[in-house]
Amino acid sequence: MENVDCIVVGAGLSGLACAQTLLHASKSVLVLEASDAPGGRVATDTIDGFRVDRGFQVYLDSYAEGQRFLDYASLAFGAFEPGAFVAHRGRLFPVSDPWRRPIAAIRSVLSGAVGVSDGLRIAWLRSQVLAGVRRGEIDPSSISGHGEKTTREELVLRGFSSEFIKFFFEPFFGGVFLERDLTTAATVFKFTFAMFSSGRACLPAGGMSAIPQQMAQKLPSGSLQTRASVVRINYSSNGGGDVVLVDGRRFRADSIIVSSAAVANPILLPESVSAEWKPQPWKAARLVAFECAKKPSCGKTLVVSAEPVAVGPIDNLSVPSAVTEGYAPDGKNLIYVSVRSDWEGEDNQLPDAIRKQAEVWFGPDVKLWRHLSTVTVPKALPIETPLARRQRPRSSHLAPGLFLCGDHLTTSSINGALVAGRLAAQEVLESVRP
Ligand SMILES: Cc1cc2nc3c(=O)[nH]c(=O)nc-3n(C[C@H](O)[C@H](O)[C@H](O)COP(=O)(O)OP(=O)(O)OC[C@H]3O[C@@H](n4cnc5c(N)ncnc54)[C@H](O)[C@@H]3O)c2cc1C
Repeated sequence: MENVDCIVVGAGLSGLACAQTLLHASKSVLVLEASDAPGGRVATDTIDGFRVDRGFQVYLDSYAEGQRFLDYASLAFGAFEPGAFVAHRGRLFPVSDPWRRPIAAIRSVLSGAVGVSDGLRIAWLRSQVLAGVRRGEIDPSSISGHGEKTTREELVLRGFSSEFIKFFFEPFFGGVFLERDLTTAATVFKFTFAMFSSGRACLPAGGMSAIPQQMAQKLPSGSLQTRASVVRINYSSNGGGDVVLVDGRRFRADSIIVSSAAVANPILLPESVSAEWKPQPWKAARLVAFECAKKPSCGKTLVVSAEPVAVGPIDNLSVPSAVTEGYAPDGKNLIYVSVRSDWEGEDNQLPDAIRKQAEVWFGPDVKLWRHLSTVTVPKALPIETPLARRQRPRSSHLAPGLFLCGDHLTTSSINGALVAGRLAAQEVLESVRP
C-alpha cells in the first residue's frame, strides 16, 4: 500500500486548490478523482468543434482567490459587456453599468428600463458592497449569523421597487443563483454583486475546463489519479486512515481531505460524523446549445428574461463565440441558453420553445439555429439560504486526520471552491504542526 502525507478525494477546483497549497508546504499529496478528468463541476465538452460547457458558467476576473491560483494570461479570457439586456414584453432593454458604460447607462434610464430612484439605489449598493469587500466585512466564507437576510429581504429593505426587483434582480441573480425566489443569503448576493461590479465576466478561450486543467498541470506527475473512485475510508483512531478505491487499490495517509460532491456520499465519512451530517439539497441547471451562421444582435451582452415562464423557457441567453473566439469553429456562432427551473416542459420540446421565444427578440434568422446539445446538471449548486449556511460545519477539520473542502463550506462559486480548498489545507497544516 502506498503511503503519503495527504490524500484529497475529488479533483474539483476545491480539491485542486487544497492539493496545491499542501504541496507548496512540502507535503506529499495524492489526489483521487472518480471521473476521467479533473475539474468536477467545471467541465467542457467538444461537440462538432464547439465548446459546450456543462452548464453556463462565467469566471469573474475580480475573484481574489483566482488571482492567487490562476495564470490569467494563458487562459486568454474574453469578456462579456458589463450589464445585460433584459427581455420584457418581447423587447430587449439595456441595463448598463454607469461607471464602466456611462453613456449606455443614461440610455438605460431614457429607455425606461431603470427608474431614477432605483438607479440611485444601485449606485449606493455598489459603493457600499465594494467598500464592504475591501474592508473584509462582506465575506461569504465566514459563518452566517442569526438574522442574516435573504437577497430579496435585503433588496426590499434597501427600498428597491418591486417592479425593478422583478425586472432586473430576479432574472439576473436568479440566473447566477439558479433560483428566482432570491432566497440565497444576502451576504452571498452582496459579494457576488461586488465581483460583477469590479470585474469582468469572462470565458477562457479553451472553455471553462481550461481553468481546472491549468491547475491540474501544476501538480507533480503521478499526484493526480483519475478514474479513481473512492468507495471506502477506514479511519484510524489516531488520525488518517486507508482509502479504498472501487478497483480494490488502497492508499494510506495521515490526513484525508474529502471534497464537495464526495461528501454527499456519507459512506466516506466516519459514522460519528455522518450521523450529524445534514446533506443540503442541490439546485439543478440545464443548458441548451445551438449553432447558427448569423450572430444575434446582443453580441457580447448577456440577455436575461424578465418574461413570465408561460412565454418561454429562457432564463438567460449568451453568445460565447462572440465573447471569445475559442468557442466555435471559424465563421460559426455558438448560442447558450440556460433554462428556467420553473419551466415544466420536456427536454425534447426545448429547442422549438427556445427558438419561438428568441425569434421575437432577434427576428426570423432564429428559425435556422441548429440544436447542438442539451446538458442537465442535477447537482449544480448547493442551496445557500441563511438557514443552510447556518447548518454548515464550523470548521473543515471534522475528526483526527479528516478534513472537508468544497464550495458547500464557503460560496457556490469558483472563488468559493478555491477558498475552501486553501482553508482546508491550512487546517491540515495547523493540525500537524509540532
Ligand atoms: C451549472 C453551473 C453554473 C455555475 N456558474 C458559476 C459561475 O458562473 N461562476 C462561478 O464562479 N461559479 C459557478 N458555478 C459554481 C462552481 O462551478 C462550483 O462552485 C465549483 O466548481 C465547485 O467546486 P468543488 O471542488 O467544490 O466541487 P466539485 O466541482 O463538485 O468537485 C468534487 C469532485 O469530487 C469528485 N468525487 C466525488 N465523489 C468522489 C469519490 N467517491 N471518489 C473520488 N472523487 C469523487 C467529483 O467527481 C468531482 O470532481 C456553477 C456551477 C454549475 C454546475
